[in-house]
Amino acid sequence: MTRLLLIGMPGAGKGTQAERLSQGFGIPAISTGDIFRNNVKNETELGKQAKAYMDRGEYVPDSLTNALVRDRLSHEDAKNGFLLDGYPRTADQVAELDDILASTGKKLDAVVNITANTDEVVKRLLNRAKEQGRADDTEDVIRRRLEVYEEQTAPLIEIYESRGLVVTVDGLGEVAEVTQRITDALSL
Ligand code: AMP
Repeated sequence: MTRLLLIGMPGAGKGTQAERLSQGFGIPAISTGDIFRNNVKNETELGKQAKAYMDRGEYVPDSLTNALVRDRLSHEDAKNGFLLDGYPRTADQVAELDDILASTGKKLDAVVNITANTDEVVKRLLNRAKEQGRADDTEDVIRRRLEVYEEQTAPLIEIYESRGLVVTVDGLGEVAEVTQRITDALSL
């Protein structure tokens, strides 16, 4: 398993699982959210543009996001595999990733769909807000992020299902337990 995507609603545990799977599989975890946050922190031009969207719980425009991922996937460490956490999130991003992979003759191995329920993720995210103080973890913004996820990202699961790539894993439970479920599901 070398080329993986993680899909799931905000707070489903994608970031946490991405770190663990990245170590287990020896492939880089690439989180577009983390890259945007670093750019915001360093006050880069990209960061300034992205921040306005992130603070409202909206998606950063595809043009910016796609260019960032295209560049990141061209780095040496992604040549033998990668785990994308939080990308693609729109139909346009799916098309971009298809194009990037086609141009390098590579294919995805699996799309891991981590499920969770809304009440649980709102609770987790409000908790994270207390611990990490993320600007987009306020209750209003969390609700908007969940709406945007349902509208724009949830439909992508069907696209990848039609390609036979999706493994669905329950994201509720202990962190290690969820990692085990994912690795079990991937080795079937
Ligand atoms: P995350 O850490 O994955 O929850 O991402 C935090 C925020 O970064 C999101 O709410 C979006 O504003 C932005 N973002 C991250 N990934 C993407 C993406 N693939 N497309 C558009 N915006 C994104």
